[in-house]
Amino acid sequence: MPQQLKVNEIFYSLQGEGPFSGSAAVFVRLATCTMGCAWCDTKYAQKVNFLLTEKEILKEIKKYPAKLVIITGGEPCEQNIIPLAKLLKTKKYQVHLETNGSIDIDTKYFDFVAVSPKKYVASKMLKKASIIKLVIDEKTTLKEILKYKKYNLYLQPNSAKKENTAKCVQIVKKYPKMHLSVQMHKLIKIK
Ligand code: SF4
Repeated sequence: MPQQLKVNEIFYSLQGEGPFSGSAAVFVRLATCTMGCAWCDTKYAQKVNFLLTEKEILKEIKKYPAKLVIITGGEPCEQNIIPLAKLLKTKKYQVHLETNGSIDIDTKYFDFVAVSPKKYVASKMLKKASIIKLVIDEKTTLKEILKYKKYNLYLQPNSAKKENTAKCVQIVKKYPKMHLSVQMHKLIKIK
């Protein structure tokens, strides 16, 4: 019997974060995450709304014109997403992964991997990451940020709050290899 993935939602929108910000994409939000961050902004993703095979997910994706698919969560790497990524690649999709990086997976079928470290991160996933996205709030110290300075680092102000944004801007100006990533979709109020 083919594997079924726990899916929270599949929707069509614009990527709001990181270097692909502004690009139309189909989002496949896989359900559940065991990391348990207190301030998690995707708590709703704990809910399993659909159990779908890779082919059923592809059928949903095909309803939209974009050839960019973003596999996100929850924490997508808690499920076996490799067959889905492989299937999408055979259908000529550009496949992006958004993960907390806690589970080391084979990323060969992904065109782009955004790792957003939370309580812990697998060092191998840091090496496989296209970008590291750090959520910055009032408690984040410069020392914590500089731990990742050798990577392609994006600082994302928590909840796009003014003071967190100002802090990120200051740091990026001081360390110009870093980038600011604002959650554009929240600013312009699209899903
Ligand atoms: S790792 Fe991400 S999805 Fe998981 S609990 Fe933390 S913020 Fe939420």
